[in-house]
Amino acid sequence: MQGKLFVIGFGPGSNEHITERARAAIQESDMIVGYKTYVDLVQGLLTGQEIISTGMTEEVSRAQEAVRQAEQGRKVAVISSGDAGVYGMAGLVYEVLFEKGWKKETGVEVEVIPGISSINSCAALLGAPIMHDACTISLSDHLTPWKIIEKRIDAAAQADFVIALYNPKSGRRTRQIVEAQRILLKYRSPETPVGLVKSAFRDRQSVVMTNLKEMLNHEIGMLTTVIIGNSSTFFYEDLMITPRGYQRKYTLNQTVQPLKPHQRLQKEAEPWALEQFNHMEPLKDVAVAPVVRESSRELAEEALQMILGDGAEFSQSLIAKQPIQSIFELAVSPGVANKKFTSKQMMTLSELVGEEGVMEYTQDHYIKLQILTSEPDDIVEKLTNAKFLISPIGDVLTVKACDFCDGEKKEAIPYAEELQERLGGLELPKELKLGVNGCGMACYGAVKEDIGIVYRKGAFDLFLGAKTAGRSAHPGQIVAEGIASDEIVGVVEGIVQEYKQKAYPNERFYKFFKRVKQIQGFEYQDMTPKIKIEAAACGE
Ligand code: SAH
Repeated sequence: MQGKLFVIGFGPGSNEHITERARAAIQESDMIVGYKTYVDLVQGLLTGQEIISTGMTEEVSRAQEAVRQAEQGRKVAVISSGDAGVYGMAGLVYEVLFEKGWKKETGVEVEVIPGISSINSCAALLGAPIMHDACTISLSDHLTPWKIIEKRIDAAAQADFVIALYNPKSGRRTRQIVEAQRILLKYRSPETPVGLVKSAFRDRQSVVMTNLKEMLNHEIGMLTTVIIGNSSTFFYEDLMITPRGYQRKYTLNQTVQPLKPHQRLQKEAEPWALEQFNHMEPLKDVAVAPVVRESSRELAEEALQMILGDGAEFSQSLIAKQPIQSIFELAVSPGVANKKFTSKQMMTLSELVGEEGVMEYTQDHYIKLQILTSEPDDIVEKLTNAKFLISPIGDVLTVKACDFCDGEKKEAIPYAEELQERLGGLELPKELKLGVNGCGMACYGAVKEDIGIVYRKGAFDLFLGAKTAGRSAHPGQIVAEGIASDEIVGVVEGIVQEYKQKAYPNERFYKFFKRVKQIQGFEYQDMTPKIKIEAAACGE
């Protein structure tokens, strides 16, 4: 009679987080083999099974005993916390079996039942810190030489992995976490977010948000998993988040602007992606001898040597400290009223954007830039020196003023500039265009913007809620005439603030106006056309 070995990961420790299969297997078993604390954790599921529980360090004898019992025809559950295949019993059980010449077809049946490992349970309590490439490293040097652990921390730190440190510290092992911190600080900012989760989903659970510099000032023990963020991980209130990656961009106001689907993986939009064809050709003249390299760092250094040539000088830190380049998106124009670029400004743009960046002329009176850089502040400084007006892109307020007839009708310019100063780039539920025109001709189309103001006879007329696109496009409604010049900035600011506070996310200004019917005392008038206009999507 053949027995069976179940190797079970029971998850973090609460009953709700055990899988159905693990639960059934425990109940089906004749005996449970596990570390004492673990047996206690699944106590509620037991129905009279025989228990073999041993101390922490007796994994090998536990695995041997489990195999022996199964060979005698019993159904044996070997239990691990988290997942049995992650620093758990699964590998060991197989190793014991292999020692005995076990064969899958003829030997005792083995079923490994997956469980939620600490990296996942702890991440869930922290927010979403392992959204991007991550790894686990155990700091326990009982079975692994510290030299190797050290190397792995170094490589993972260098490669910007999110890292989950298991077994970070115990009564006797206290230096490992200190060393780990030291290595991590070689490559990562002291401000890098770090989450400490102790006893996830068990009694006395604790979750601490800290950073790389401060982490050792908090309690870390045998039941803690330490999650180290990568270079883009951030805290939002009490959540630790690692962004998915393609939005790895700077924008002036930090607004994330994911690319539209058709723009993805195109060189112009994502210049950081691997170019499909250039890399298909095998490298010539490269020795392919199976050289065993000490570390990924050596591999990288060797690669660099191949590129730079033998005599190339490069410092140790050249690879490690390469700053990470990101796409910096922003908008530039010569000024609020000024619509003329100088040739020097054009030269500055071409120099900053370079071969890799993108310069796009838009319908909003500005040029949108995408620049590959690790120094966004530097770019801003150079553009400012070239006297550009710089604005963020995305769901922000953009001032679209006319050219005031090249300054001939200049009375309203100061108001346009003040509005730009106060409201330009303000983050809003949806992008919002504020049109400012300097005379009643309104030839720059202020009445066709979300909010339009037109200067006429020393005062301003106010238009609200244009629908700027689509087959049912319409101008804004005129809601007031002759607003005194010294009041206009305050009036517009009030409207914008009310929209900012009360609109739903992504609700365009015209929809908001239609919904709330009144903004700052200005009434909405129903101007729905008599016939129903069918909406047509792009390309129809
Ligand atoms: N097989 C387990 C890991 C065992 S190694 C798994 O997949 O999760 C033991 C280490 O796991 C501990 O030192 C700690 O770092 C982590 N760990 C296990 N249970 C945990 C829990 N409930 N909360 C936080 N960390 C835990």
